[in-house]
Amino acid sequence: MTIRAITAKTIFDGEQYHSDSALVWKGDRIVDIVPTSTLPVSVIVTDVGDRIVAPGFIDIQVNGGGDVMFNSDTTADGIDTICRAHRQHGTAYLLPTLISATPEEMKTALIAAECAIEQGVAGVLGVHLEGPWLNKDKKGAHDANKFYSPTIEQLEAFPWLERGVSLVTLAAENVDTQALNWLQQHHVVVSCGHSNATQHQLTAEKLASVNGFTHLFNAMSPLEGREPGTVGTALMTDHAWCSIIVDGIHVATQNVLMAHKLKPEGKLLIVTDAMASVGSRTNRFVLDGEEISVQDGKLVNSSGSLAGAHIGMDQSVANAIAWGLNEAEVLRMASTYPAEALNLDDVGTLKPGYRAAATILNSDYSSYAVLVDGVLNP
Ligand SMILES: [Zn+2]
Repeated sequence: MTIRAITAKTIFDGEQYHSDSALVWKGDRIVDIVPTSTLPVSVIVTDVGDRIVAPGFIDIQVNGGGDVMFNSDTTADGIDTICRAHRQHGTAYLLPTLISATPEEMKTALIAAECAIEQGVAGVLGVHLEGPWLNKDKKGAHDANKFYSPTIEQLEAFPWLERGVSLVTLAAENVDTQALNWLQQHHVVVSCGHSNATQHQLTAEKLASVNGFTHLFNAMSPLEGREPGTVGTALMTDHAWCSIIVDGIHVATQNVLMAHKLKPEGKLLIVTDAMASVGSRTNRFVLDGEEISVQDGKLVNSSGSLAGAHIGMDQSVANAIAWGLNEAEVLRMASTYPAEALNLDDVGTLKPGYRAAATILNSDYSSYAVLVDGVLNP
């Protein structure tokens, strides 16, 4: 099997920096990072010059891209289009994310993700079902008519992924403890979001089955003097990760920095919550029969509500660094930490034996190329 390498002035492996080094891989797995001067002549080399090579970005919340909404195209082809669109913005892997839908549509989405993984669609790690087990008081752009509280029988009827990750966003106050435990026991990653909980509704019992919190600050009960709400609980629950949108529109810069200060290391990660407009030609799309369009960089529905984000991972990383977070830490927030959030141990870091995936960034952090499972996508 051919051995390939990317040589660069800077390689960040997720823990440390290597200068004038080569990321070497064989097939779809990383072999090592070595000094460029020691590379055997038989290795096929792509030199990326002064650019930075980082672990491939992982976005666990992507509703669409390349003019495709996952809700409207729950097929392996639809997932492929979304992955391709986001590769232009530095994303190596993602979870296509279904916005609250009917149980039948959810089943179709789960099957599509399983098929995409089986067919080897590059970049898909599983699926994210965002709802419909949400709180109508924090519905955001979701259709509250689709919301319900699931029974165990209903959960058992879904074809949860066998080869990939199943992640669900739910309002933990509206899902009983047994159902949360069932999800936990069946290796479904549980994230609390679109939640209007009080601190007392998020009991220790429930939180034990909650792995994370979805798009911290957005669509959740706020932190107030006498009531921590879902935001305060998310910030204070050390075992749980928080995903956060860093487009400068959904969350104030100071709140991103505050969350970073409060969460333990590794527990704050970047998501885009991107829609079909990323990597698109049109800047508008339809969700639940309603037109969503980009206005002044914001995605809004007809009533002016924010409806997802119009941003890629590369710009998100650039923003967080510009706001003062450390470069290495931000690169981990876009790769290592989301891999850990999904309990994956072969992506998110450039280590021997891991999947050969890297994001190559220009000096302004815009994406130059993405390596996915040994294939370099310029
Ligand atoms: Zn949401």
